[in-house]
Amino acid sequence: MVHHHPDSEVLTDYAAGSLAFGQSLCVAVHLEGCPECRRRSSQLSQVGAELMNQLVPVAVEDGLLDRILGEIDGVSALPVVDIPASPIEGVPRALRKLLPDGLDAVPWKRVTSRLQTAVLGVGDAANQVALVRIKPGGSIPEHRHGGTETTVVLRGGFSDRGGNYLAGDFVSLGEDDSHQPIAHQNSDCICLTAQNAPLQFTGFWGKIANPFISIHPQ
Ligand SMILES: [Zn+2]
Repeated sequence: MVHHHPDSEVLTDYAAGSLAFGQSLCVAVHLEGCPECRRRSSQLSQVGAELMNQLVPVAVEDGLLDRILGEIDGVSALPVVDIPASPIEGVPRALRKLLPDGLDAVPWKRVTSRLQTAVLGVGDAANQVALVRIKPGGSIPEHRHGGTETTVVLRGGFSDRGGNYLAGDFVSLGEDDSHQPIAHQNSDCICLTAQNAPLQFTGFWGKIANPFISIHPQ
């Protein structure tokens, strides 16, 4: 059961196809494990299609969007597509083409004794997509984000000041948010993360880790 979801703005951008690829991947992975967001996303797509069909420029009353979103909240009986279990252990469908041999075959690059990363070759200079693997109890040094960092948990879990995150949980942080994720003790934590600017490490770790841990393309 997932507890951390994309907000309406992210789901709307996803439905409109206007998210960067990496963010879109994170949302797709989340949707596989979250019937509620699948329902909401499909409703937003329908509303978008409906609005496109009625594209005659007319003035609308104030509060129309709020009313539509309110009505969406009231709808509950749309069918939800059943997604079969993944034949590749632990790899969501959205990632299978990128990770045909599973998470354990990824060419992990050591950052610290408890932290590994693997950049996926699907981003560009402005939008990095990577896997991050934290050993049990390990952490990612306290950092800020130059832009937006979108993360979805694939395996295990981590905690930060925002709460506990388990497989399927989604978190999007803005440029002013700073956090220090710590993996849960019982297993490795593997996350998919998309960034549109390099991480900026703060404090002591910043001085030591920055040259090594930058997972932005060189
Ligand atoms: Zn959700």
